[in-house]
Amino acid sequence: MPRPLGIMTAIVSNLQAVHHAIMQAAQAAERDPAGIMLLAVSKTFPASAIQEAYAAGQREFGENYLQEALDKIVALRDLEIVWHFIGPIQSNKTRAIAENFTWVHGVERLKIAQRLSEQRPPHLPPLNICLQVNVSGEESKSGVAPQEMVNLAREVAKLPQLLLRGLMAIPAPAEDEATQRQPFARLRELSQEIAAQGMALDTLSMGMSHDFAAAIQEGATIIRIGTAIFGKRD
Ligand SMILES: *Cc1c(COP(=O)(O)O)cnc(C)c1O
Repeated sequence: MPRPLGIMTAIVSNLQAVHHAIMQAAQAAERDPAGIMLLAVSKTFPASAIQEAYAAGQREFGENYLQEALDKIVALRDLEIVWHFIGPIQSNKTRAIAENFTWVHGVERLKIAQRLSEQRPPHLPPLNICLQVNVSGEESKSGVAPQEMVNLAREVAKLPQLLLRGLMAIPAPAEDEATQRQPFARLRELSQEIAAQGMALDTLSMGMSHDFAAAIQEGATIIRIGTAIFGKRD
């Protein structure tokens, strides 16, 4: 039976709780919550889950797996969704990413950036890019070493069909908030170093369900939240 309109689903109430937590974290950091974009990470969840969040006003959605994402993009093409690709990028996937997304978080190689720029259709605005940094020397080998970041940023900023917006990181989980803030602070400092070289970055994509309050304390402008909105993934 179709669900009657207006009922408060789990996704809708989770979204409200996340908005509330963002407000509180912003207040504690003396920041304007309007400067924090909530990216709803819908990987592994069906298009119907995205529709529920959309009906509650959510517009930015993040996906990790290309084929799954493309299926949802087709199914939901009548909605005004802004799609972000946040997964690892293989070079044979760049064309579909360049054609179907508005943002790509997690670029960590110049070659990938060059392909995305070449393959971005000319009738579309430049693809928004965040470069992934390995800020906590983490277990996951993803991301560029901080000392290599300024050079990568300089090269990516030259690519015509890309717009370098900022940096992204997925730090290792920490025991307490003070420790959790350190890699986020490192990302912010790195972004300031790059800005000092004349590249105007406006985005720090950092913070997930378990650590977004710490990320907001350190200046996150996009937080990528999956579990806290859609529930646990299998
Ligand atoms: C899955 C994923 C998220 C969301 O993680 P949650 O812990 O479910 O909030 C955020 N960022 C990236 C890059 C992810 O892969």
